[in-house]
Amino acid sequence: MSKYKAVIGLEMHCEFKSNSKVFSSAKNSYNEIPNDNIAGVDMAFPGTLPVVNEKCIKDALMMSIVLHCKQPEFMYFDRKNYYYPDLPKGYQITQMTEPVGRDGYVEMECNGEKKKVFIHDIHLEEDAASLDHYYDTSCIDYNRAGVPLVELVTEPCLHTAEEAVTFLETMRSIYKYCDVSEADTKKGQIRCDVNISIMDENAIEFGTRVEVKNVNSFGGVRDAINYEIKRQSELKDAGRYHEVEQETRRWDEEAGKTIRMRSKVDAIDYKYFVDPNLPKFKIAASWLEEIKQEIPLLALERKEKYISEYGLSEYDAGVIVKEREYAEYFEECLKVGIDAKTACNWLTTQILGQINEKEITLKEFYLTPNLLKQIIDEIKKGTISSKQAKEVFYKSIEEKKEPKTFISNDMTQISDQVVLEEIITTILNENKNQVQEYKNGKDNLFDYFVGQVMKNTRGKANPVLTKEILKEKLES
Ligand code: ADP
Ligand code: MG
Repeated sequence: MSKYKAVIGLEMHCEFKSNSKVFSSAKNSYNEIPNDNIAGVDMAFPGTLPVVNEKCIKDALMMSIVLHCKQPEFMYFDRKNYYYPDLPKGYQITQMTEPVGRDGYVEMECNGEKKKVFIHDIHLEEDAASLDHYYDTSCIDYNRAGVPLVELVTEPCLHTAEEAVTFLETMRSIYKYCDVSEADTKKGQIRCDVNISIMDENAIEFGTRVEVKNVNSFGGVRDAINYEIKRQSELKDAGRYHEVEQETRRWDEEAGKTIRMRSKVDAIDYKYFVDPNLPKFKIAASWLEEIKQEIPLLALERKEKYISEYGLSEYDAGVIVKEREYAEYFEECLKVGIDAKTACNWLTTQILGQINEKEITLKEFYLTPNLLKQIIDEIKKGTISSKQAKEVFYKSIEEKKEPKTFISNDMTQISDQVVLEEIITTILNENKNQVQEYKNGKDNLFDYFVGQVMKNTRGKANPVLTKEILKEKLES
């Protein structure tokens, strides 16, 4: 623990879903073949013009609303001018003067406590091409050029690595629930710049901030923050705080440290100006209203509902809302008439266990809530035991056949009163000593008798009925 207070602000970039790119008609998809998804605009061919993708604007506006931001009256874009091989136009189309959202907040849950994270702004821009560096050459792949990118900038209101990572996870969940992005860090869809400074606990002024650029995993964000807090604290302790410079660093995953890239003092001047090729247009209030209606219930809201309305535990509710498809599966279970606790048990143990093991999604999972209900109904009726239910479950998903197929007469429980009474009478006759001991007050022998019945019937005796008959016979 550092004796200083850390101050952290994040710039989170996330690639959004869409059929075509944000300003061109080229496909927005991950492709193994480099330079396959490109249009003239992405290559900056002379005479080509950008056209803005309505879906990208809509999704960005949706996020602006979700983050409680103010939306601008007009939508337009700016040019951020700089030269780099991955940017053939010599400028990036982005939003500077009027971002799609400004001055918002998002609520997150960190260590069981709610915290508001304040959003400076959220804006829509285009991604750059990607550079692949080889031993003595570099290649440019323009597939990524023009992919819709949304940048979210927080206020410097986070104070620990854990809060920063929780914020990123909260945002990833929101993006996925709203279906605006796959938000997959493994595919490089999320990239973060992390700004970190330290200050004395009661100081009023912030310390000097260091920016760590392009951290592409949440673990990296956590480690980079902890590394910087330690590095800056040690310099401060040693009376060398002046050596903490306003600079840009990068995170070296292998070395486990941040490395200086350049000073911020001589930062490039991007000479922003409004892009004249993209006409300014008014955002209709009715459109915003429509978008608002499309926003689904988010993870935190669902979690609260599951706890208060369905009586799930905090932990179980948390597991179910982790992914929207889990929550939807659960809610579908309730719709087909499975009770909440049963649905929760099957989902969080058997079902999630299976999809994790098989590395599939719930959508690809054979047993829909409707099919699951076949199994649950049979348990309720007493036709099968819960042990048999699991066998049916595995057979059904293995062979992709309805559970019904595997519920045969042979495996059904012995629920016939007469048959069970006969079996139980025999067992009690064979255990006269135990019966006597039970009658003398050794109550826990009851389970022993149940066990004997189960052993005798290879687990097929209806447990409820077995207990009833046993009680009756032992008490008589
Ligand atoms: P830049 O163009 O240098 O990236 P921005 O204003 O776009 O600057 O981003 C600033 C980021 O740094 C924001 O996320 C903000 O919250 C954060 N920030 C600003 N001041 C501090 C500070 N003293 N300590 C930590 N983070 C800070
Ligand atoms: Mg920055």
